[in-house]
Amino acid sequence: MTGLLSVDDALARVLAHVTPLPSEAVGLAAAAGRILAEPASARVDLPPFASSAMDGFAVRAADTPGRLPVVARVAAGRPVARPLGPGEAMAIATGGLVPEGADAVVPIEHVVEHDDAIRVPSAVALRANIRSAGGDVQRGAPVVAVGAPATPARIAALAAAGVVEVRCGKRPRVVVVATGTELRRPGEVLREGEIYESNGIMLAAVLTACGAVVEQIGPVPDDDAAHRDAIERGLDADVLVTSGGVSVGPHDLVRSIERSLGVEEAFWGVSMRPGKPIAFGVRGETLVFGLPGNPVSSLVGCMLFACPAVLALQGACEPGPRYASGVLGSSLDRNPVRDDFVRARIAWSGDGPQLIPSTGQESHMIARSAAADALVRVPRGEGPLLAGTSARYLPL
Ligand code: AMP
Ligand code: MG
Repeated sequence: MTGLLSVDDALARVLAHVTPLPSEAVGLAAAAGRILAEPASARVDLPPFASSAMDGFAVRAADTPGRLPVVARVAAGRPVARPLGPGEAMAIATGGLVPEGADAVVPIEHVVEHDDAIRVPSAVALRANIRSAGGDVQRGAPVVAVGAPATPARIAALAAAGVVEVRCGKRPRVVVVATGTELRRPGEVLREGEIYESNGIMLAAVLTACGAVVEQIGPVPDDDAAHRDAIERGLDADVLVTSGGVSVGPHDLVRSIERSLGVEEAFWGVSMRPGKPIAFGVRGETLVFGLPGNPVSSLVGCMLFACPAVLALQGACEPGPRYASGVLGSSLDRNPVRDDFVRARIAWSGDGPQLIPSTGQESHMIARSAAADALVRVPRGEGPLLAGTSARYLPL
């Protein structure tokens, strides 16, 4: 494993192998989190009509200040019986249709009302408190751009603009294979030398959150036939993610079996810790990630490489990983040649997130990771990163 790739170069190689999947029609209710494959445009002006921004009275600005009879009351969603005449006022609710002839709304708090008339004590500006038709978006204009994830605000924008269905990148089918003779499913009895299998469920959770449809296989024992069978099934999917068996031990079979099944390896080994012995390759259109078995290594490799690939397959224009920035709560040593990913707790202070490195950074310590909120990227370099300096992190 000489001449290791940097984290950024490795990610670039992965993304260079991604061809986005075709799109499909998705009802708006099911589109949350999906990536838009075609621009979605407004079906109506928004608001569709001039509406009141306040509970108050529709008037003609030129009639103010003055005393005006209240000739009608306009509720939201109700038509207006007739236009507003000169010298008149109509009570109007927030969201109510501004009557023809009115050019301003005086808020209820600014008038004195008695005997079906109001006194407006001071002049009201033209168009005050009126939301103009199409002021938010005009019919036909784009609402959400291609490649953007459908966030709650974007789904609401589409609904408000009358969109019922959008085209989204298909959700990639991902098969996760956990390898290791020593692995038992939680709930089973552990015999000597065995541990519980935890990577499958973890990787499935991470990848599902990125939009994948995940099938889990395993645990698969470390023998050729079992590996071949599981990996062959995975190679039918859009993405195959294995855990374990990619190091140099005699029981590390994943790479050789994949090679025999026609997987072309693009790289093996990235200069990072944890997760160095990660493998990536392709067979046809299938992307193949070989993550190391140590749980934290598996998690880091999945977040750094497999998740961006899954998002890019859906057509995301910014597949990440999306780093946030915070301030180090204590200093961290840097390694001259590799990037370290350090688990940390986040203390939220007025100045933003403060990153407090966790104790127990070894790559098998998944239980310690449960107390961490962040994976801090410590870029390679000389000398320590001092407490108080800013650092990038991935939320866990
Ligand atoms: P490997 O990469 O197969 O050499 O595994 C490295 C370490 O991770 C070993 O201690 C394994 O027992 C452990 N390990 C591998 N796969 C899993 C898994 N799915 N869940 C929990 N631990 C695992
Ligand atoms: Mg193993």
